[in-house]
Amino acid sequence: MTSEEQSNGKKVVIVGGGVAGSILAKTLQVHADVTVIDPKEYFEIPWASLRSMVEPSFAKRSVIRHADYFKNGRIIISHATKITDTEVSTADGHLVPYDYLVIATGHTDSSPKARTEKLGQYEAEHQKIKSADSILIIGGGPTGVELAGEIAVDFPEKKVTLVHRGSRLLEFIGTKASTKALNWLTAKKVEVILGQSVNLDSISDGNGTYQTSGGEIIKADCHFVCAGQRVGSAWLKETILKDMLDMHGRLMVDEDLRLKGWNNIFAVGDITDIQEIKQGYIAHKHSLVVAKNLKLLMNGGKECKLEKYKPGFPLALVSLGRKEGLAQFPYITISGSVPGYIKSRDMFVGKTRKELGLESYPVESE
Ligand SMILES: Cc1cc2nc3c(=O)[nH]c(=O)nc-3n(C[C@H](O)[C@H](O)[C@H](O)COP(=O)(O)OP(=O)(O)OC[C@H]3O[C@@H](n4cnc5c(N)ncnc54)[C@H](O)[C@@H]3O)c2cc1C
Repeated sequence: MTSEEQSNGKKVVIVGGGVAGSILAKTLQVHADVTVIDPKEYFEIPWASLRSMVEPSFAKRSVIRHADYFKNGRIIISHATKITDTEVSTADGHLVPYDYLVIATGHTDSSPKARTEKLGQYEAEHQKIKSADSILIIGGGPTGVELAGEIAVDFPEKKVTLVHRGSRLLEFIGTKASTKALNWLTAKKVEVILGQSVNLDSISDGNGTYQTSGGEIIKADCHFVCAGQRVGSAWLKETILKDMLDMHGRLMVDEDLRLKGWNNIFAVGDITDIQEIKQGYIAHKHSLVVAKNLKLLMNGGKECKLEKYKPGFPLALVSLGRKEGLAQFPYITISGSVPGYIKSRDMFVGKTRKELGLESYPVESE
């Protein structure tokens, strides 16, 4: 049976080719007529990006062309801008009809369109780190903490300062994790300044000094802004889904991950309003539920058979350089080599590649 026959020719449009969108596209490609809309020609494993800044060749495995795992469908490299009952419009002028629509635009992203350009960006960031004696990191969420960890381990001779506006690091998880991250960074001679910010409008790498909101002067040869990414829902405010956004800009979904009141529109990943920690392994789970539900609906299955998504235990892993990390499990938070072994050695890159049906190490031409 061909995939067309399997899906009765149903058109599924997935908006967003991040963690959730990529695995959904890979899973559904033999079951439906699938189109992915994403502004980049590649999917990037987000939690591997900080390793790529200290080791640019790492990005050859973690920045993956959509076409490498999604071979049986259509990819439109553009932003989605509008939605009607029957089609999605893109910034480059495509009108893409759908029978089923999945919104997976977790976060906005200013990354370049082309993979080669993205790899070049990592080379440039690596050079910037290598040629600096002192580095300022602005932001103490997972991105800032992981970047500080990467630099502190790979370049222990450099002076690293991390400024965070909050009262503790890693505010998305518990206080024990914050304390462990702070202690680890301090032991690695990273200076951590909490409760202060740096005015992002008045900074440049040129003059080598930065002033914090508390009036402290920090000397640094360069800086990296590691602020949290914005939820990727601003574009939805101009669409038929504008009333489906909650006060945080997240899409309100039912247990079967369809938007409340809609029978053919789903949402997956960080953009959903589900009360749970926002993590990639959860976005992945959403996609597997939606893939099942879409297959059921496309094959004329009964609504009562739709799978219901149930939030699981909240887990979070933060890498601290190449060998250590910290993990928050439901009843315990640990740091050191065990979480390091789980995440920090390969940053789940081999695992994620395998889930997308790819070799752990790409062949030369990739
Ligand atoms: C430093 C760091 C470390 C992390 N570590 C982990 C970890 O160890 N484990 C874990 O499980 N999670 C981790 N996470 C969290 C994880 O990355 C997110 O939960 C995950 O990326 C969410 O997936 P998503 O598909 O919902 O959104 P995203 O991965 O953000 O994908 C959204 C996609 O939509 C696209 N998009 C946005 N707007 C539009 C539009 N208008 N039209 C078309 N496309 C659009 C974007 O370009 C992007 O490709 C980490 C995050 C960070 C920042």
